[in-house]
Amino acid sequence: MIHLLPLGDVSEATLQFLASSLQRVFDLPVIPHDPVDLPPSSYDPERRQYSSTQILKSLARFKSSLTQVERALGVVAVDLYAADLNFVLGEADSREGVAVISIARLKPEFYGLPPDEALLHQRILKEAVHELGHTYGLGHCPDPACVMHFSNELKETDQKGESFCPECALL
Ligand SMILES: [Zn+2]
Ligand SMILES: [Zn+2]
Repeated sequence: MIHLLPLGDVSEATLQFLASSLQRVFDLPVIPHDPVDLPPSSYDPERRQYSSTQILKSLARFKSSLTQVERALGVVAVDLYAADLNFVLGEADSREGVAVISIARLKPEFYGLPPDEALLHQRILKEAVHELGHTYGLGHCPDPACVMHFSNELKETDQKGESFCPECALL
């Protein structure tokens, strides 16, 4: 089963949507948890961003406290960075079976556009399936329609589907 953990302020509607959609895509029970605080150690005051790698460490601890767990997906609304990247939309640790996604840059408002909940939900689902795909050992896929296709820009995220291509689905 997949455990869904909001860190910080994430809307209930988003979590409910994600829980039911992931359940459909992976055909596994998805357990949404009550929100926890973002780990203070993950915040970089100079960058004014949170470290996805630090958040993955917290998620690994959270996961080890659970029984009956396959994967843990963290969801945050703050902006994330990793190592030498300016930002990341998500990160996965396949060894620990944990992943995190950030909603911050998936919102049209981030680019000065009007809110669009349907579009936002589509993007959130694609990012979540993509990062969870990494935790199942999948790499990036050359098929631009496959959810495991690497998206450098949101345009590419919007062009790809929310499901695995036949080859990725085999793994
Ligand atoms: Zn990826
Ligand atoms: Zn694929």
